[in-house]
Amino acid sequence: MKAYYTDHFVLPLPSGHRFPMEKYSLLRQQVSNTVGIELIEPRAASNEDLMRVHTEGYIQAVSSGQLTPAQIREIGFPWSEKMVERSRRSAGATIKACLSAIEEGVAVNLAGGTHHAYADKGSGFCVFNDAAVAAKYIQNIKPTSVAIIDLDVHQGNGTAALLGQDPSCFTLSLHGEKNFPFRKEASHLDWGLADGTTDQEYLDTLNQALEYLEARFTPELIIYLAGADPHEGDRLGRLKLTTDGMASRDRMVLDFANVHQCPIAIAMAGGYGHDIQTTVSVHAQTIQLAFEYHQKHRANK
Ligand SMILES: [Zn+2]
Repeated sequence: MKAYYTDHFVLPLPSGHRFPMEKYSLLRQQVSNTVGIELIEPRAASNEDLMRVHTEGYIQAVSSGQLTPAQIREIGFPWSEKMVERSRRSAGATIKACLSAIEEGVAVNLAGGTHHAYADKGSGFCVFNDAAVAAKYIQNIKPTSVAIIDLDVHQGNGTAALLGQDPSCFTLSLHGEKNFPFRKEASHLDWGLADGTTDQEYLDTLNQALEYLEARFTPELIIYLAGADPHEGDRLGRLKLTTDGMASRDRMVLDFANVHQCPIAIAMAGGYGHDIQTTVSVHAQTIQLAFEYHQKHRANK
């Protein structure tokens, strides 16, 4: 299975910054122990790739360091050339994960899931919207129905604003109703969960959400944002899923892809554990399940 990594494009942050930069290198280290997972550095997304989703003015402002202080505050990262490079690589990684998924059934981006980015602005640690960029990249090669299944605990507001009215896509967001972003956008399906939601309620809801999707849309590609932040050990998530519950969640999405014989590209999205190792384990568990799915898929071919 192909796994695209960008953790060596480190984005310099002031000490004490709450973005867990180190989780990405820890995750790659952990994943590198699995024989059969091929770690690959992706190319950077080009201006042409980004312009299918983002405005030229925004791409230009990001690239040349011309963002306003307010725009930089909303993103939450200080501007640097490395920040631009990392953001382009991360979008490139989701593009590559989609291409590999189409070839092999499943592939992963060890970062990505930057679903708060809009056409003309970044937000909440998101500069470019990798899932939207990748969806449009694939559709530019060939008309493809793309479902974006966003199970990060925060609403995929940027993705909803970009694709929530697009009939060639289906955006599904299952998120904490009271969590950031406080002004939600309309996805094709939004499902807001109460604080403290536990495994069974979450999984029942996800099952219903997937049935809803299935009744309205036939995906030819799934981009799955497998945020680790619904986990009970998360600082920002406010939900109470156990590690086993998170595994059941991932299996439910992988089974859905399997039933529909639909390629699935997975991005990691958020995860802000009190203990960073917990977050890394939850992400690593997703990758392990994806890897098992990949092996099964190959065996069935
Ligand atoms: Zn999140």
